[in-house]
Amino acid sequence: MYAKFSVSRDTANDFIRLFVNRRAYSMQAHKPLPNGKVPYFLARDWTTKQPKPLDADVVRVHLNGDVTINLYAINPETQRCKWVAIDGDFDGAVEALFKLQWELKQDGVEAAIESSRRGGHLWIFTETPLLASECRIYIYNVALRLGVPIVGGGLKQGIEVFPKQDQIEEGEFGNAIRAPLGVHRKTNRRYWFYDAPTDPIAQLGYLNGLKKLTEAELHTFIQGMSLPESYKPPVPEPYVPRPSHEGQQEFRILDHVRPKTKDRRNWWAPCPSCRQSGKDKSGDNLSIQIANPRYYKCWAGCTADDIRAALGQPLRKKQLA
Ligand SMILES: [Zn+2]
Repeated sequence: MYAKFSVSRDTANDFIRLFVNRRAYSMQAHKPLPNGKVPYFLARDWTTKQPKPLDADVVRVHLNGDVTINLYAINPETQRCKWVAIDGDFDGAVEALFKLQWELKQDGVEAAIESSRRGGHLWIFTETPLLASECRIYIYNVALRLGVPIVGGGLKQGIEVFPKQDQIEEGEFGNAIRAPLGVHRKTNRRYWFYDAPTDPIAQLGYLNGLKKLTEAELHTFIQGMSLPESYKPPVPEPYVPRPSHEGQQEFRILDHVRPKTKDRRNWWAPCPSCRQSGKDKSGDNLSIQIANPRYYKCWAGCTADDIRAALGQPLRKKQLA
């Protein structure tokens, strides 16, 4: 079992100053699933369905150990972050994080290592919120210089850098990371920063005392650098409608459905076939790739045939030879 605390609102506000850059947050489930994974979900208001804003009360119960929250790095209004967290959970991850910490120190950047279930997280805090894209350029280049592997660009084992995106659109959240100083629901344990006594106040005191990265420093470090080529997000293929065939216009799914929401890659719309059989109450079973709307998929399992038939536009049968 884990230690319980009863922290003050001041302590919670201290945590918010360091860690909270946008108010949306997610919650870890209380117990792991049968497969061992602990799911987390966006905290929403029950009535409005809107993301719930993180406040000192939620942070208090997180620090006390009663719930566990996850934090998002990027504020979509500014595309900036208050911290960079480097997650390492592969063989040799802790050594890699110490190596990174030492290398950052040579730049005058103080970073703190938090232990984790299978490795650790290295945290860097900023003086003022800094552009996520610029923070990522810095960390990726330092890691590659040291030969520390980074997930992505063909590698499955390595560190993961939060923020994981250069920018996010309004309504997007990016990836969340478990907020420090709470309880991991998978192991029912707390994982602390190495260099401070193991209670929330002492840990926050230690983190507050670290030198914070400034924008001027960051600009010096990344001058002339960019994100390494293999880690750049793919450039979306432009959508070019096929020329009409036998006087027939190409079928375009977006002419037939009205998307309800979108995320980074897809529109989400009601599936015509599901709707026909009275399903898809939430109206978002069908994903349509934004970059190339020719690709769409019903996540309830309808085939393209089903969808086209439901729209009265059956797929043209292949001509017999
Ligand atoms: Zn469907």
